[in-house]
Amino acid sequence: MKHIKTLTHEFVEHIPSDLDDGKIYVSMTFATAIHKCCCGCGQEVVTPISPTDWKLIFDGQSISLYPSIGNWSLPCRSHYWIERNMVKWAPQWSQKRINAGRDHDALAKKRYFDSNKMPTANTTIANLEVSKKGKSRKSIWQKLKKRFL
Ligand SMILES: [Zn+2]
Repeated sequence: MKHIKTLTHEFVEHIPSDLDDGKIYVSMTFATAIHKCCCGCGQEVVTPISPTDWKLIFDGQSISLYPSIGNWSLPCRSHYWIERNMVKWAPQWSQKRINAGRDHDALAKKRYFDSNKMPTANTTIANLEVSKKGKSRKSIWQKLKKRFL
């Protein structure tokens, strides 16, 4: 089976019944994205967008989904990230790790619904910006250090 490395995205209101390979459909109305598994197995992968499921980032040209997509319930068990319309393949998880991840998801959902705080899109984006800046600052610092030491 051929692994898909890049995707195109399409914003739709309703999810079409026939999905194209290598295309991710995003419905804001239903807060859901759907695509055919990037391993080429043809299975449809639904990623609900919510504070406890996936987060969708649209930068004006491409989309990213966080966290990674682990198709544990599919026979292929593929695992990848969609980052700026690129598919980044991740190592497959063992059953133990899958179970641990499921526990973690359940806990995250419970925590979210226990607290009434609604994280807004703005805080998410702001946090991301901060962490990106922190990273680049660090790498510049490391470069400087290398040069002077
Ligand atoms: Zn697959």
